[in-house]
Amino acid sequence: MKNKYDVLVIGGGPAGAIAAKTAVEKGLSACLVEKRPAIGTPVRCAEGIGKEALHEFIDPDPCWISAEMTGASIVAPDGFLMKLESELAGNKVGYILDRKFFDRELVWKAAEAGADVAVKTRASSPIIEKGFVKGAKIECCGQVTNVTADVVIAADGVESKFSRWCGIDTTVPVSEIMSSVQYVMTDIDIDAHSTVFYLGNEVAPEGYLWVFPKGKRSANVGVGISGKKSGEGHRAKDYLDRFVKKTFPQGKQIEYIAGGVSVCRPLDCTVADGLIIAGDAARVVDPLTGGGIYNSMYTGRLAADVAAECIGKGDVSKTALMVYDKTWRASKMGKAIERNYHIKEYLIKQPDAKLNEIIHSVSKLNLKEFTTLSLIKEIMMVNPKLMLELGALAVSIR
Ligand SMILES: Cc1cc2nc3c(=O)[nH]c(=O)nc-3n(C[C@H](O)[C@H](O)[C@H](O)COP(=O)(O)OP(=O)(O)OC[C@H]3O[C@@H](n4cnc5c(N)ncnc54)[C@H](O)[C@@H]3O)c2cc1C
Repeated sequence: MKNKYDVLVIGGGPAGAIAAKTAVEKGLSACLVEKRPAIGTPVRCAEGIGKEALHEFIDPDPCWISAEMTGASIVAPDGFLMKLESELAGNKVGYILDRKFFDRELVWKAAEAGADVAVKTRASSPIIEKGFVKGAKIECCGQVTNVTADVVIAADGVESKFSRWCGIDTTVPVSEIMSSVQYVMTDIDIDAHSTVFYLGNEVAPEGYLWVFPKGKRSANVGVGISGKKSGEGHRAKDYLDRFVKKTFPQGKQIEYIAGGVSVCRPLDCTVADGLIIAGDAARVVDPLTGGGIYNSMYTGRLAADVAAECIGKGDVSKTALMVYDKTWRASKMGKAIERNYHIKEYLIKQPDAKLNEIIHSVSKLNLKEFTTLSLIKEIMMVNPKLMLELGALAVSIR
């Protein structure tokens, strides 16, 4: 590791890896630091991603794809199952990744492209001069080094501290943190090519429970509930254990993970003088689905693109870096986050009876496109009342 780079990237998840790779491809020197001893572990993810979303960044490789999905189902609170099929979309549904290897592959590609990578290396505080972020103190095996950079990209995930150390308010209200627990389970009876989502207050208050197949008889089985619904005897793990006991009594749990997912609005501003915030650290997770892999890669790439442009012009002030903030907010991804935030806020207020009504109204949907938006559009088509309840939002969805 050198003492000076054009770009210093903090965090070796999808956002950081794509940022570092893009930066070096743009001709910049870049270093990525990851505090964990190995990239990709422990996995804190259900590992689902849409096919087209993935293809935008990398060609699929069987080494890090656990399973290919051709359909999905939603189970209503009363147990009614709605099937989503995608004949019209050419079965372009999605993949369940193996993030241990996927994250490694992304960082590997960044390193191959020319980025320096350091694991078990933590950014422990920012270097700030005259209000500008100028790099970070980097800690490795008890040694602290000052690493300076023209632009620091904070891609340090949902637990991000770096931006807060730089004076940015990154607080997420408890009610907007999904408290999540997941088992990797094996020896279970599942449809190996279809994801299943369970809704309802008994199963996952203000959240959902998922079964994402990883093979013929194994799956990520997890639940996310609103932080404000969590308490003694009704924590995420209690909900998951009840479900597993009932649905997969013979199944074996071979891995346990717990983590938080922010389902709030993104940070008010995702840049500062010399600093760009990307991925979960910027709170760009889809608030409706909790999906953040694509959004992290998208913002990671954009962060590096904008850094390269601004470094080239010799101006890395907040004003110059604002192009990043404005671009992602105006993008399809930014608009989806805003729209899905409202839909999430509407749905979490609905009683189970209402969710049953909505799901019963469509027993089987054949989607033209396999996206959250197309699902919502179809549901609204058969529920004109829902359009009234959603008001102005319904207009923007149509
Ligand atoms: C239970 C669960 C299920 C999920 N399921 C899905 C899903 O199915 N599909 C989907 O799209 N998304 C899912 N997500 C969200 C997805 O995992 C994240 O959105 C994605 O990993 C964010 O990528 P990132 O690069 O921004 O952050 P991360 O992947 O969290 O990477 C951040 C990295 O920064 C490192 N770091 C932190 N601080 C420092 C520091 N000071 N110095 C150096 N390194 C540091 C961390 O160790 C970490 O490796 C899920 C999340 C959870 C918790």
